[in-house]
Amino acid sequence: MSELNLILLGPPGAGKGTQADRLGEDFGLPHISTGDMLRAQVSAGTELGREAKRYMDEGELVPDEVIINMIKERIVDDDARDGFLVDGFPRNVSQADALAVALSDLDRRLTAALLIEVSDDEVVRRLAGRRVCIKNGAHIYHVEFDPPKHDMVCDQDGARLIQRDDDREDTIRKRLQVYAEKTEPLIDYYDEQGLLRRFDGSRSPDEVHAHIRAALATLKLEEEL
Ligand SMILES: [Zn+2]
Repeated sequence: MSELNLILLGPPGAGKGTQADRLGEDFGLPHISTGDMLRAQVSAGTELGREAKRYMDEGELVPDEVIINMIKERIVDDDARDGFLVDGFPRNVSQADALAVALSDLDRRLTAALLIEVSDDEVVRRLAGRRVCIKNGAHIYHVEFDPPKHDMVCDQDGARLIQRDDDREDTIRKRLQVYAEKTEPLIDYYDEQGLLRRFDGSRSPDEVHAHIRAALATLKLEEEL
């Protein structure tokens, strides 16, 4: 009866996706990235996907209700019976309320909200240092953590490396500002409900992973009692 129904919170660049993948493997939980799910449904042309596409084509945000319905459909799958890890949703308090209602419709509830905390300057250091090959976007470097052998040249094919617009410092700072305004109130929201678990995201990915894994193992035991 012990479910691990989890959401991951944290700024862009905190490594949420990586951690969700690894923890998903540890505990046998599907990693539900709402962004990936949305893209998959749109390309598969499902009813929800077609509905979402209508908004995207108009340049509008996909309504919360559509995303919530996708999550609901996904978590009734067999592989999510013991729980799930949602990454990318909710992004604000009204979405969090809607998610709570959706879960309760399915006779489930959130087990914990995992927050990976990283300072703004560290996020900028991580993201603004990325350089991408113009020939193959999968060739990714980092000026500090994974530099190419020759400045601004891809090791694998000799093509030029560029900084994507998304990775420019001013763009990152704007995203962090939006995160602070919309998502940070969620931290208080989950804290008040006793669901928040904080993790120091300035540590290495391995250390962050070990900390969260240990916390989840404890949580799972508590749920079983
Ligand atoms: Zn390349």
